[in-house]
Amino acid sequence: MPQFKIEKDKFKQFFSTLLDEYTVFAPVEVEGISSFSKVKSAEELISIYHNSDKPPKEIFFPQTQTMFNYDRDGIKIPEQKEKPIAIWGLRSCDLRSFLMLDKVFGIPGQLPGREDYEDPYWKEKFKDKLIFSLACNNPLSTCFCNWFGSGPFDKEGSDLFVVDIDNAFVIEGCSKKGVKFLSKLENSDLLIKAPDEDLKQTEVLKSNAEALLNPPVDLSPLNEKLKKIWNESIWEEISNKCLNCAACTYFCPTCHCFDIQDEGREDTGKRVRIWDSCMFPLFTQEASGHNPRPTSKDRLRQRIMHKFSYFVDNYSEMACVGCGRCIQICPVNLDIRETLKQIMDYKF
Ligand code: SF4
Ligand code: SF4
Repeated sequence: MPQFKIEKDKFKQFFSTLLDEYTVFAPVEVEGISSFSKVKSAEELISIYHNSDKPPKEIFFPQTQTMFNYDRDGIKIPEQKEKPIAIWGLRSCDLRSFLMLDKVFGIPGQLPGREDYEDPYWKEKFKDKLIFSLACNNPLSTCFCNWFGSGPFDKEGSDLFVVDIDNAFVIEGCSKKGVKFLSKLENSDLLIKAPDEDLKQTEVLKSNAEALLNPPVDLSPLNEKLKKIWNESIWEEISNKCLNCAACTYFCPTCHCFDIQDEGREDTGKRVRIWDSCMFPLFTQEASGHNPRPTSKDRLRQRIMHKFSYFVDNYSEMACVGCGRCIQICPVNLDIRETLKQIMDYKF
C-alpha cells in the first residue's frame, strides 16, 4: 500500500478533516490519567509514548450503558445519532483487544450453541469505525505483546497505520476504508508521498522498538497445563497477595464481564449494564447465599482460566494482548507474566 507523509505543522488541518466526518476519540489526559476520549480539536490531544493508562474498551463498551428506558407505555431504546467513530492513536495491543471483543459481542457464529448472537449496542458503534493505529516507538518494560504473536508495529486490524517520525507522521492505508479516506486528501497539500529516507526511518524505529521487548515465552502448552492443575496448591501460592480489588480487570482491555440492573422510580426506569469483575465475591453469589467461588484463590483462578483456557476453547485465542496495564495497576505488584511462568514451570 502507498505510504504518505503528513508534516506535523499540517496535522491540525488534517485532523479537522477527520472531525468533519467522524466522532473522534484520541488520547487525552485528565488529572494525570491518560485515556481515549471524545475530542473536538487537535489541541486536546496528548502525545503519549506508550499505551494509555486506561484501556479504550469504553469507546464501544461503556462502563455504564443505558440499554433502554421504560415507563407504563413500554420501552424506548436510546438513539445513537452521532457520526461514525474514528479513533486516532490506538496501539497495536489495544487494537487486538477490539478484534477480540468483536468476536464476543459483534460477530455472530463465534460461540458454539450461540450461533446467532450479536450485541446490538456494540455492533451499532463498531460497524462504521475508522481506526488510525499508531506504532509504539517506545514500549514499556511491562509490555509483552510479542508473547501473543503481535508487536509494537503490528498493523492487524488497522484502517490506517501511522508512524511518528518526530517532525512528521508516515501514514499507510491498510483497509479499503483507510485507503478511501486517504484518497480524498491525496490532491490536497496535506499529504505527500513518503520519501524513501522516511520509510527507512520507520524501519529503524520498528527494529529499535522490537529490541526493547524481552524475548517471548512459548505459551502453547498453557491451556493443557491449566486444565491439569485446577485442583493444585499453586493457586493458593499465586493468590496469597491478591486483595481482590478488581483493578486488574477494570484496566484490562479484554475483560468484558458485565452486570445488568434496573434503576426504577415509581412508573419509570431504565435498564443499565455495568462492568463487573470476576474478582468480586458478589460476582458469583447466588440468591440462596451460596457462592461457588467464595475465596480469593477461586476468583483469581477464574480470571486466569477464563483468559488462558476457556476463551481459547471458545475463540481459539488467549484473552490477553500483553498490554501490561494489570502489572502497572496492581497495588500488591502481582505480575501476570510471573504468574504464567509459575504455571508453566509448575511440577505436580
Ligand atoms: S489488581 Fe492485583 S490485588 Fe487487585 S484484584 Fe488484581 S491481582 Fe488482585
Ligand atoms: S491481562 Fe493484563 S496484560 Fe493481559 S490484556 Fe489484560 S491488562 Fe493487559
